[in-house]
Parts: sequence; C-alpha cells; structure tokens
Amino acid sequence: MNDAADGAAAGPAPDEVRAEVTAWLAEHWDPNLELLTWRDLLVESGWGCPTWPRDLFGRGLPDSAARVVAEEFERAGAPGTAGGTAMGLAAPTLLAMASDDLNRRLLPDMITGRQTWCQLFSEPGNGSDLAGLTTKAERDGDEWIINGQKVWTTGAHKADYAMLLARSDWDVPKHRGITFFAISMDQPGIEVRGLKQMNYHASFNEVFLTDARVPHENVVGEVNAGWAAAMTTLAHERGLGRRASRNREVSGRAATQAAEEAREYNKTYIWYPQRAGRADLVRPRAEAAGLAGDPLGRQVVADIETLDKVSRWTVARARAARAMGKSPGPEGSIAKLAGSEIARRCNAAHTMMAGADAMLTGPDSPENGIIAEIIVSTPGASIAGGTDEIQHDIIGERALGLPKEPSVDKSIPFREVRTNAVRNRTD
Ligand SMILES: Cc1cc2nc3c(=O)[nH]c(=O)nc-3n(C[C@H](O)[C@H](O)[C@H](O)COP(=O)(O)OP(=O)(O)OC[C@H]3O[C@@H](n4cnc5c(N)ncnc54)[C@H](O)[C@@H]3O)c2cc1C
Repeated sequence: MNDAADGAAAGPAPDEVRAEVTAWLAEHWDPNLELLTWRDLLVESGWGCPTWPRDLFGRGLPDSAARVVAEEFERAGAPGTAGGTAMGLAAPTLLAMASDDLNRRLLPDMITGRQTWCQLFSEPGNGSDLAGLTTKAERDGDEWIINGQKVWTTGAHKADYAMLLARSDWDVPKHRGITFFAISMDQPGIEVRGLKQMNYHASFNEVFLTDARVPHENVVGEVNAGWAAAMTTLAHERGLGRRASRNREVSGRAATQAAEEAREYNKTYIWYPQRAGRADLVRPRAEAAGLAGDPLGRQVVADIETLDKVSRWTVARARAARAMGKSPGPEGSIAKLAGSEIARRCNAAHTMMAGADAMLTGPDSPENGIIAEIIVSTPGASIAGGTDEIQHDIIGERALGLPKEPSVDKSIPFREVRTNAVRNRTD
C-alpha cells in the first residue's frame, strides 16, 4: 500500500525540475524511436509519471512539477504515457491500495500501453446498489474462482485486464464481503458479448465469468476490503472529467504511433461529446437560426453558457485541489451532476431549434446527424459513473452532512438480504 500517489507536498523548485527534465529529454528523446521503446524509457526513468513514488516508476514530485514536465514533453513533441481506463482509473486505485509487488508487476504495462483495462463493477441487478453485487469469488489454493455476470462494461471487448469486484464473504454485511481483483481478461472463463446502443454505437458489453481464475496475489488490498478500493476508483471516475484531446500535427515514429493509439482508443468514446450535449453548438446554431434577438431563445442560450462556464470552474477548482495534494472529494459529484444537467438542457435546446428535423440522420440532416445523436446519447450522462440521484445522495451526506438514507440491509449478513439477486445466487 502506498499513500504517496498524490505526490509529495513539497519538492524541488519548478526551475530545477525544468532543467532536469530538459537535460534528460535532450539525452534520450529521439522522434524515431518505437513508441514502446520510448515508453520503456519513461518507466525506467520515472519521467512518465513524475508524481508517483520513486520506487514505483515515478520521481516523487508534487503535481505542480508534473505540469512543468508535461510542458517540456509537449515542447519536445515527445509522447507521454498511455492513457485510458488503465492510467485514469486502475493505476490510481492500485497505487493507493495494492501491494508494492502487485504494483511492480502491473503498473509498467499500464504506463507503456501494452495492457489496456476495463472496469467489471456493475451487474444486471446491481448498479446504483453496487455493494449488493453477487458475482462470487471462492478461494481455491493459490487462486480464486469467479462466477457471475457483469454488464455495461465499457471497452471490455478490447481490454487485457479488468478491475473486478466480487463477493468473497456472504456472511458479513454487504460492504464488508467484497474483494477487488486485478483479473486477466484473456482466459477461457471470460466471455465478452457486445451490446448495441440506441445511438448505434457499441461501447459496452455483457461479461460472463464462468469458473474464471485469478491468482491470490492479484487481490488489490485485503480480502473482503474491496469496497475501499472501489470507492477510490469511483472517486477518480467522478473526479475531473475528460480532458479534450488536442488535434495537433505530429511527426516522427513514436508520436505517430501514439496518435494512432489514441485514435483507436477513442473509437469506443466517439459519441461521448454528444453524450455531454455539445454545448459548443448551442450558440452558433441559435445565431444561425435567427434566435439572437428572440428573448426566449437568448434565455436558453445564456442559461447553458453560464452553467457550462461555472461547471468548468468547478472542475478547475477540483484540479487545483488535487495539485495541492488533496484526494478527489465531493466536488467530483458536483461536477458530474452539473454535466448531466448541461447535457439535458442542451438536448432540449437542440431539439427546440431543429424541431422534427432533430430526428433525422444522414448527410442532409442537422449537423450531419450530430443533433439526432445528441438526443439519444445525453441520457447516458446522468447514468454513467453513478446516476444523478446517487450523486445527490453523496453530496447531501458527505458534503452537506445531512442524515444518511435509511437502510435495512447494511448491518445484517449479506446472505440474509432479501433481494432477487441474492436469492438467485445463494439458493
Ligand atoms: C456510458 C456508460 C458507461 C458505463 N460504463 C461502465 C463500466 O465501464 N463498468 C461498469 O461496471 N459499469 C458501467 N456503467 C454502468 C453504470 O455504472 C450504471 O448504469 C449505473 O451505476 C446505474 O446502475 P443501473 O444501470 O443498474 O441503474 P439502477 O441502479 O437500477 O437505477 C435505476 C434508477 O433508480 C434510481 N435509484 C437507484 N437507487 C437509488 C437510490 N438509492 N435513491 C434514489 N434513486 C435511486 C437511479 O438513479 C436510476 O434512475 C456505465 C453506464 C453508462 C451509461
């Protein structure tokens, strides 16, 4: 376990870091390197993850120094680490919760992008009530055997590894019998079936685990204490939103391969801008539709622009808090909630402006089918990563200190909880 993942509070002066990273880049960066060869150098030197501990592929620097490093990489045109679910969710969870041995084994392939990850949390009967999950983990010598079903698993069809939550003890209250595993997806006991969405994309999957196996040494944290690790993952998921990827010219083999990797990865998320409602299109479309002088139209546009701007400030505040070494807090839930409100308002505004044409797709439809895609994609914004209602609960209970929701199933053994899911798994 390592709690240095948020970076040391103090460290060398930014100028010192800049001089050091510039000298290192001058010595090692060659645009014609293979991407993986370059990223192996990042693993070895710690410059890919400067805020991580020194003994775990980092340099133990504060977040403020990480910005300096990123600037110098950008100036040199050198790609950084791989991204995605591996580096965005799995790596911070492992750094905070896993043993040093497990981290040493799994982190390098996340940094280089040799292994991609997905998140096997939600189940058909357990999304909001994640702690009620019924995928079963049974110990068998040095391994665990996993049986159950997951659903809505984004990117499972491409993932090499997964963060898996499974129930390892049915005789304790529900939050206390869950174990967090790092499981290989490449095994006969795991079947991934794609799901087609109403927007015609297919980024989720059902995942069936039938006698799937995972070594005991791949338990993240302690057996039966997986809930804390899961909360770490979710805090990062709700935390800071998606950074816009810049479309800049790239040259050289490593940068070209990194751009290709990002293009391939982003195929799964190609509809996510539409899921967010495309606030950027509201004002130009209102102006083009001649609504600039219309009091009602102006009001709608002003509401969206204001909310969008305030929400960006919330995200910036959350990022600044992280830069000061603080862990993700309720501002992640506030930003997520604001995001789904913006998506809903954009959906309504686009529909109002396009009228019945909003339902058209194809080359002569509004914005080449983008408006139709917004309409069928924005509902996902208030569900993914925890629904709006669940974010309201978190903000009420953790930020405002309101009384907790009444609950009848948190203090009794999970086996005695009366839900269909539990009956089906334990009969
Ligand atoms: C785009 C997208 C990507 C996703 N990716 C992944 C992924 O990679 N991995 C993964 O594991 N999951 C993923 N999910 C699943 C997601 O986490 C769940 O859909 C979500 O947590 C809601 O769970 P559910 O679908 O079971 O809905 P339910 O929990 O059944 O909720 C149904 C309704 O009841 C409401 N409700 C439930 N409980 C309460 C309560 N206590 N108080 C008030 N209202 C309540 C909900 O707000 C909702 O409106 C993804 C979902 C989406 C949309």
